[in-house]
Amino acid sequence: MAMGKLIIKLGDITEEQVDAIVNAANTTLRGGGGVDGAIHRAAGPALDLACAKFNGCPTGEARITPGFRLPARYVIHTPGPVWQGGDHGEAELLAACYRNCLALAREYGCQTVAFPSISTGVYRYPLAAAARVAVKTITTGLAKDPALWEVRMVCFDPTTEAAYRQALETHK
Ligand code: ADP
Repeated sequence: MAMGKLIIKLGDITEEQVDAIVNAANTTLRGGGGVDGAIHRAAGPALDLACAKFNGCPTGEARITPGFRLPARYVIHTPGPVWQGGDHGEAELLAACYRNCLALAREYGCQTVAFPSISTGVYRYPLAAAARVAVKTITTGLAKDPALWEVRMVCFDPTTEAAYRQALETHK
């Protein structure tokens, strides 16, 4: 079977028609700003009730819920690392986010998954470095899981999109 592909696009992740979208959450899983706020608004209040049952989630791990009113069947919630200068395990934690989300997606039979740019908003992870970690980890994940046929990086602004395109070009 051919390996799945990584696609980079500009867009709003709440509109993606995929099996699972990933939420760049915080460790409480109880909603915040940025992409987290947008996902909770679009999914409706049932999403917060489902998230409450987890009693939070450590940085780098992932939890799955239904997508409720979203076009996506599932939401996979992962708290990314807060950038603290780079010597606090940020790169390994960010890679763990992508890896653990893909493992959950696989467990739930997802063939298409959409990611936002985890940690590069309020958590201030430098964009180029975050994009390299994401591209490397997703590419490895695609190679390991033949059932996964498409991963989309959904970038909310052109600067983010350019950074992920650059990372993909350099990775090849
Ligand atoms: P973090 O706390 O992990 O840094 P943020 O939500 O602050 O998370 O930012 C992560 C990325 O998600 C940023 O690039 C931000 O512009 C982007 N983002 C915000 N809203 C959306 C959306 N609706 N769809 C896709 N990406 C979004």
